[in-house]
Amino acid sequence: MHLSPHSLQQIDDAYIESLDPEALRGLSLRLLADLKEAWDRLNQGPENSSRPPSSRVPWDRKCGRPDPEADAMVADGEGEAKPAEAKPAEAKPVEVKPVEVKPVEVKPARKPGQQPGAPGRGRTQVFHAHEEQAHYPTACGGCGHALTGAGAVAYTGFQAVDLRWGDPRQPGLTLWVVDHRYYEAACGCGHRTRAVPGQGEVDPLLAGIDLSEWRLVGPGLAALIVALALRFRLSRARIREFLADWLGLELSVGVIHQTIHEASAAVAPAEQELVQAILASDRLHADETAWPEQGQPLWLWVFCSVTVTLYYVAGRGRELVENVLDGFTGWLMSDGWIAYRHYPCRLRCWAHLIRKARGLAQSCDREARFFGQQVLKTLEALMAAVYAAREGPPAVDVPTQHAPALAELRAACEHYQRSDHGKTHALAVELLNDWAAIFAVLSHPELPLTNNDAERALRHWVILRKLSLGTRTPVGSRVVALLASVIDTCRQRGHAPWRYLERAIADRRAGRSLTALPQPGE
Ligand SMILES: [Zn+2]
Repeated sequence: MHLSPHSLQQIDDAYIESLDPEALRGLSLRLLADLKEAWDRLNQGPENSSRPPSSRVPWDRKCGRPDPEADAMVADGEGEAKPAEAKPAEAKPVEVKPVEVKPVEVKPARKPGQQPGAPGRGRTQVFHAHEEQAHYPTACGGCGHALTGAGAVAYTGFQAVDLRWGDPRQPGLTLWVVDHRYYEAACGCGHRTRAVPGQGEVDPLLAGIDLSEWRLVGPGLAALIVALALRFRLSRARIREFLADWLGLELSVGVIHQTIHEASAAVAPAEQELVQAILASDRLHADETAWPEQGQPLWLWVFCSVTVTLYYVAGRGRELVENVLDGFTGWLMSDGWIAYRHYPCRLRCWAHLIRKARGLAQSCDREARFFGQQVLKTLEALMAAVYAAREGPPAVDVPTQHAPALAELRAACEHYQRSDHGKTHALAVELLNDWAAIFAVLSHPELPLTNNDAERALRHWVILRKLSLGTRTPVGSRVVALLASVIDTCRQRGHAPWRYLERAIADRRAGRSLTALPQPGE
């Protein structure tokens, strides 16, 4: 937007009459651009096509979702829920000092978060600023002439706390307080123009989150808070304790929560880049683990290639796999879950099959023991053949070389699928159902035998789930999935995610577009 509400309020018939033709043309063009942008915003939504594909979730959401405000509740490390402030400090650029609302005691039967009408408490910590930054308007909002800042007066401002990073030569971590002052300047045409803090556009799936430069928490400090929450898995309450005890900064749980959500909105456009990289890869690992969202049994899904790790929280249906992998033509390594079954170029993780066969081989049931030993023996021989083929191409290809053992195994599966022993029957059916996917690796020994990449990626988040008991709202789930994707992709590419996150937050708060993720070897 070119014209702020402050500028628009000043423009009336008399002002327009006073402008010369050139200034009038400039103003008309800015007004036209603003009007078009306003109409586009009015028409935007997930239900029409004017939004980019990222504004749609890649699965179908069920109705009757919980109240998004409930996400203000956050669980601490011991699994005890704590109320968070509903309206954190720095939302509107109207006051000089940000005001912060402290948590109130909530009886269990009431809705989480601050109750309507509850008294708020102002921020009591007073900072001595390290520096002052002045923001002047650069051009007149009315006639468009350049402004020098001469005679400008400060009309508003706020304090921001940001991070001074340590580095290997000069270790250390300090907070840095900046006094931001915003100025208003008068033009020869009579129009008064104000410099305003930047605002970023937020993905509609993250409704309720604001991207704004008017923030107590600067971009570097925001990156530290995200690191503490997601990489070091501290609860909001523990982050508050850490910042107060070690850095002398008092932040409310609500501001910490809002900072994490805003960081996620900053990196949300990266999702498209990650999906494109997933589709372009020739080999993908997929897996899923339980992820409760306010009592709903959802799943945390992961898709990872050599250079990308992408997470979603969704139901366990096949919609997610179908939508994310629409157009993917490479090999997909997964478990035997039905959602993956329709995919043609599929691989199965042998580690699971070997574990199941080993269990049967140690069973007290004679039939189970016999079948388990046969499966185990065959898979181990085939694995040795795959390893040998990786060293150098064999004279006869692996499937031909092991055709008799494979035929015997298939006959055994057909026999034991009628077994009364539950696990024997289940393994025989699983092998028969997924025969092509399980043994595809024999013809392509360069492909992996296990799904370790995906399982390793999920392990970190499984521990977070145990500490946090999942998420509380669709927005909360999306926040975790987006930040997890960016953090793990950066790490996989050999970059610390935090500098990227700091820049992403600064750019997007200022209304600039998100910079591309760092590439491997950069
Ligand atoms: Zn002017």
